[in-house]
Amino acid sequence: MRWQGQRIDETDAQALPGMENRTGFLRTVTTPEFAGMTFHEVLAKSALNHVPGPSKMPFNWTVNPYRGCSHACVYCFARGTHTYLDLDAGRDFDSQIVVKVNVVETVEKELRRGSWKHETVALGTNTDPYQRAEGRYRLMPGIIGALADSGTPFSVLTKGTLIRRDIPVLVDAAARVPVDVQLSIAMFDETLREAIEHGAPSTQARLDTVRALSDAGFRVGVFLMPILPHLTDSVDAIDGALRRIKEAGADHVIYGALHLRAGVKPWFLQWLSQHRPDLLSSYRVLYPGSAAEAPKDYRRWLARRVKPLIRMHGLEARHSDDRPLRRSMGAPAEPVTSATPLWLFEQPAAEPAAPSRFGAPRAPEPVPTLF
Ligand code: SF4
Repeated sequence: MRWQGQRIDETDAQALPGMENRTGFLRTVTTPEFAGMTFHEVLAKSALNHVPGPSKMPFNWTVNPYRGCSHACVYCFARGTHTYLDLDAGRDFDSQIVVKVNVVETVEKELRRGSWKHETVALGTNTDPYQRAEGRYRLMPGIIGALADSGTPFSVLTKGTLIRRDIPVLVDAAARVPVDVQLSIAMFDETLREAIEHGAPSTQARLDTVRALSDAGFRVGVFLMPILPHLTDSVDAIDGALRRIKEAGADHVIYGALHLRAGVKPWFLQWLSQHRPDLLSSYRVLYPGSAAEAPKDYRRWLARRVKPLIRMHGLEARHSDDRPLRRSMGAPAEPVTSATPLWLFEQPAAEPAAPSRFGAPRAPEPVPTLF
């Protein structure tokens, strides 16, 4: 988080401990419309975030208007980054949302720089840009407009049905630059969905969003990930999911097994102990110690199971170990071969953590991943 920016000398008695008088920090907001949530409005000095190091992600830049995410997915990889803000990675991550209120003006300024090379910008790779806060702050239309005006291609990945509000803006942008839209939908049992993504829209609402985007002319990708061992990896579950995705009008599916980084693993295991204690020992075998990935054997087994089903449903097998399509409306798909590099689950380590004190050197942006 870039806390350095403009100095706000007023103090705010409602602010979190240590946040009363922070550089770049504006105010803390709670409203009846967003009961249980707190928004921390900040002035960001920069908005375009360069993906650090030798990342194998298919993009080099991200924009993240929010930190924390009210969709509250138990498995969310970004949870650990909230601790850089002296907030916890559990309930605080779900309810204490940092809002970069000046992100539109900041990204416009950065896109005007002569040095900007118009590389693809990814929206929604760290936290969800169409989470509930976006209903209040309406930052995405300005970001999309700024990217399109500057001739910058971009992608959006979300679980948020709020993206439907911006379909006209996205259609307008897609007439000028390549635009990829992707919905993340991995839980097709609504009881499980409610338990593990309790702040996110229902599965059906997201499928309806796929339909709306498809009807607007987008070739919508669906991220069927994370697939949860023993919970959503049966043939019936995957086949049923793909059938519904296809019926919703999706163009293709990208899938992948659960990934448990250190910052999220304790929260996930705690959830498992409450909801499926019978699976705890299996998960401890699959994700021992600091292991973030499921074992190679499991992922191979999953590939053998999922790929034929994806082909059968006409959703073009694209394993998470392949590069995803980066298509624009009307543009031909990039060929994907078995030789394409691994990228999704081979993330570089996060940047070294800054001391977790406000006012100390800035905390790092999360290293992007795709769920
Ligand atoms: S996985 Fe995505 S939608 Fe879910 S909490 Fe994390 S950022 Fe939000």
